[in-house]
Amino acid sequence: MTVLGLGAMGRALAEAALAAGHPTIVWNRSAGKADDLVARGAVRAATVTEAVRAAPVVIACVLDYPVLRDLLTPAAGELAGRALVNLTNGTPDDARRTGEWVAGHGGDYLDGGIMAVPQMIGRPGALILYSGSREVFDRHRAVLDVLAESDHLGADAGLAALYDLAMLGGMYGMFAGARHAAALVATVGGDPVRFVEQRLVPWLTALLPVLPSTAEADDPADSSVAMQRVAIANIIRASREQGLSGDLLAHLLAPIAPPADPRITEDVLRLADRTAG
Ligand code: NDP
Repeated sequence: MTVLGLGAMGRALAEAALAAGHPTIVWNRSAGKADDLVARGAVRAATVTEAVRAAPVVIACVLDYPVLRDLLTPAAGELAGRALVNLTNGTPDDARRTGEWVAGHGGDYLDGGIMAVPQMIGRPGALILYSGSREVFDRHRAVLDVLAESDHLGADAGLAALYDLAMLGGMYGMFAGARHAAALVATVGGDPVRFVEQRLVPWLTALLPVLPSTAEADDPADSSVAMQRVAIANIIRASREQGLSGDLLAHLLAPIAPPADPRITEDVLRLADRTAG
């Protein structure tokens, strides 16, 4: 297989493939990043075209889709009969357009979303979500499974990116909430790191089992919705009293209302203002 892109993630992918004994061809814009991989048995390609030509499956993992397209355009003539497995982060439409472009050059396309950091690649706990060509997924399953646990979501090439971004959205929501919580504690002289370690992590861990029940919008007639709105308004008000913005919470907690109801943020902020007065 070929690996295009030897940033932190591409290197981890190439290392895992090599460690499992798969012949691995590598290319990177900064050629020196391939040196230690070559010392361990990888073959360095001089150009992207040479790299694509060298193997039936090409794994691409670069910064973004514009970079990917710039790199692959001169090598498009080599894609016929080959499979591009693209693990570059992007949107569902980026993935679908790239799949059509590859198909237009006679190649097969499998898109992937990496749910891991580089240190996890090749170890238990790493997951890569795939979508697009099931045939490519099945044919190259042995090498894909060396990188991470592999899960094929469906033929729509955009699915992996969509699930990947959905999961990252949940993660960033948690990170943003934790940062706000720590900042609030810091306003009264609390140690934010110790607070997160000793208080917030156990609290969130205890709440994890109820997470699935929060996936659907609440019934606005449910009395707990009114209770939660008051609690959110109090968080916003406390944040403001301590000199922090409460807007982040107001937006993040918008789903505690009928879906796509734009009034919720206004509503909670109005409630915060009213209880402040
Ligand atoms: P890095 O910043 O470490 O590497 C970026 C890669 O893109 C390098 O190979 C770099 O080449 C190449 N690149 C950037 N600009 C250009 C350009 N103009 N022309 C040619 N090559 C270019 O990023 P990662 O390896 O960490 O990430 C790669 C992909 O993996 C991203 O889409 C990222 O979202 C995804 N990913 C990363 C995770 C992580 O934790 N790192 C987790 C999950 C997904 P050069 O070395 O020459 O600069």
